[in-house]
Amino acid sequence: MAVADMGSKKFDYAPAPESRAIVDIRPSYGLFIGGQWVDPTDGHAFKTISPSSEEVLAEVSEAGPGDVDRAVKAARKAYDTVWSKLPARERGKYLFRIARILQERARELAVLESLDNGKPIRESRDVDVPLVAAWFFHYAGWADKLDHAGFGTSPKPLGVAGQVIPWNFPLLMLAWKIAPALACGNTVVLKPAETTPLTALLFAEICQQADLPPGVVNIVTGAGDTGRALVEHPGIDKVAFTGSTEVGKMIARSTAGTGKKVTLELGGKAANIVFDDAPVDQAVEGIVNGIFFNQGHVCCAGSRLLVQESAFDEVLESLKRRLSTLRLGDPLDKNTDIGAINSLEQLTRIRELSEVGESEGAARWTVACELPDKGFWFPPTVFTGVSQAHRIAREEIFGPVLSVLTFRTPQEAVEKANNTPYGLSAGVWTDKGSRILWMADKLRAGVVWANTFNRFDPTSPFGGYKESGYGREGGRHGLEAYLDV
Ligand code: NDP
Repeated sequence: MAVADMGSKKFDYAPAPESRAIVDIRPSYGLFIGGQWVDPTDGHAFKTISPSSEEVLAEVSEAGPGDVDRAVKAARKAYDTVWSKLPARERGKYLFRIARILQERARELAVLESLDNGKPIRESRDVDVPLVAAWFFHYAGWADKLDHAGFGTSPKPLGVAGQVIPWNFPLLMLAWKIAPALACGNTVVLKPAETTPLTALLFAEICQQADLPPGVVNIVTGAGDTGRALVEHPGIDKVAFTGSTEVGKMIARSTAGTGKKVTLELGGKAANIVFDDAPVDQAVEGIVNGIFFNQGHVCCAGSRLLVQESAFDEVLESLKRRLSTLRLGDPLDKNTDIGAINSLEQLTRIRELSEVGESEGAARWTVACELPDKGFWFPPTVFTGVSQAHRIAREEIFGPVLSVLTFRTPQEAVEKANNTPYGLSAGVWTDKGSRILWMADKLRAGVVWANTFNRFDPTSPFGGYKESGYGREGGRHGLEAYLDV
């Protein structure tokens, strides 16, 4: 082939599927209560599907109020008789053991997460699962050092924690909840999201493998009603919730006056702010990682891009060029960048809000790519000409949709960034260190990333202001939520 011809030829990626043979999905699952698999008392079950193929993966039990009550009682018994009496070092050893098993079974966990959630294996393998193990290692280390955490000598645990988590990072949210709770000496009842229960159920097996005393961790699967029964159960001392602001507000109301300690990690509409002195290629990678990582199903996603007016054309052109190289498709293919939308319900919401964006006058640009016939898919989408009043600039879309606004001065960027009911995260891209510090001081966001985005670390606290919730998870700060202080 002539050199000129080769220059114009496009080389496609060959398929590189990760084998799913490593996972052993059972046809049906019971509830994990008191260290055992038990059937739900009323016998109800539901199916969990793979969002990329709509294939039924397994049948999962739906816990009713009676089952939640059994789980809370099992957790209480384990707390009273074993876990609260165990020397802190011994608690730590269990957490270390769980962390090591998580590492040993990392590939299995990553494949199962991608199957049940739809996220690319590249992310579940390289981001989610390593962070899950890191969270357990981190809090394993804290278990016998609580006297030195800054909460007085011998801080006491709270008792039984009721934990409700969403579908966007099923196993990672489990780790954020269970690792600090156990390290502080609490026992837990956890409810995973209806659409992504499988890795939590595999985690139950890992607890058995680690010989964790029965009842220290209980997993009750189900939908919103199961979550409500858990949150409202009088036998729990602590509620930890991650999910929508709407449900978070309901939980705040139902727990008010009960004496339960509550942490809420809710929605966001983060501003990712790019100044004209930022290195454009690096900023574009950060924009892509900010909103297209995990299909945009990220509470702290950089869903509002604020670009300094003088850099707008250059940034937009580079961004569109980069987005055209992303590969959408089979989550188990190691080349895939964009996986499936987690559910038809979420896809419908993303479609609706995108249509609202167009009808309100914003200009829509979508990557030209083929969508698979089966499953739930939405191509990376960018809206320009967005004003602060548009719904796509105010509401959490929770999908691969970016709204682009412009600003002229740092002051204007701060005002626009803070003009949201949320306050979970923000990003700043600039060459000037002093400007980063000035911006970080003014932005009302729990996390401010500088020249990076969507970076997580177990040593770093995470949480929001305003309608993004309250309480912090991660690091030393995350211990407070599980101690009687
Ligand atoms: P929810 O807030 O409904 O779900 C989060 C968790 O809470 C799930 O386990 C859910 O169960 C459970 N739940 C639902 N209702 C109650 C209740 N009344 N009491 C206790 N627990 C309850 O989020 P959705 O999955 O419905 O998503 C809706 C929207 O919320 C998304 O479009 C997105 O915008 C936003 N969202 C934000 C998240 C974030 O981290 N910021 C995470 C998830 C969603 P079940 O799954 O069975 O309904």
